[in-house]
Amino acid sequence: MKYVSFALSGQASWGYLEGENVVAVGLGDGAPVTLRDAIASGMDLSASSRQAPRLRLSEVELLPVIPNPGKIICVGLNYEDHRKESGRAQVGHPTLFARFANSQVGHNHPLVRPKESTEFDYEGELALVVSRRGRFIPSDEAFEYVAGYACYNDASIRDWQRHTSQFLPGKNFIATGAFGPSLVTPDDVGPLDDLRIRTRLNGEMVQESTLGHMIFDIPTIISYCSTFTELEPGDVIVTGTPGGVGMKRTPPLWMKDGDVVEVEIDRVGLLRNSVIDAR
Ligand code: MG
Repeated sequence: MKYVSFALSGQASWGYLEGENVVAVGLGDGAPVTLRDAIASGMDLSASSRQAPRLRLSEVELLPVIPNPGKIICVGLNYEDHRKESGRAQVGHPTLFARFANSQVGHNHPLVRPKESTEFDYEGELALVVSRRGRFIPSDEAFEYVAGYACYNDASIRDWQRHTSQFLPGKNFIATGAFGPSLVTPDDVGPLDDLRIRTRLNGEMVQESTLGHMIFDIPTIISYCSTFTELEPGDVIVTGTPGGVGMKRTPPLWMKDGDVVEVEIDRVGLLRNSVIDAR
């Protein structure tokens, strides 16, 4: 199954994909209002989907997969080639930072380069969405807490990321984190390790790896995060980017107005966004 959050005539809702249509479950009577609510309620679609309206995918605006997560936890430096190109030492625990919900956009929505910087960089990543509440989750049970996966572009304002040792400002400018196009359930994704992850800027491949190259794998990340916080349905964990970022190229390769950036992960999807300058 592929679930989407969308807006139609300014109203936010959610549904699942059926060919070129969206079955707009969230618009049915008594249905959970958001995809996050639906995940929290256990995704029982049997009653609400029968009467749900069918919409053309082309007539809705896709929103970030989860527009209103309680938490967005991002893992930094989680692929060896990116750790090396960043000149960072090996560490025993995941490097974590947070994003805020209003830094996110959906598939086909422009990413916005702020006026404060030209150092706008791409980071293609796999995101997962948490399915149920959990604390102290053992790593061998971690996948039971995954509702599904989506592509993420953790686009970064590099000079603001490096003002101090803390990443947060450079990761939270408005409309810099692309999340989509859809939430693909684990049964449709299958084993993760051999899936390729690629980022293209204006059609040219700039990042390419496989998910098995993560330094801290998904069970380790879930177990670690659930030790210091309680994971809740709809929480988002963004799992890190491979090498090849624009900052580490000679000369640096920054995203600019008019560019098109794509993150593609086998079996998960293709996330495409244009880039515009803030007005
Ligand atoms: Mg990142």
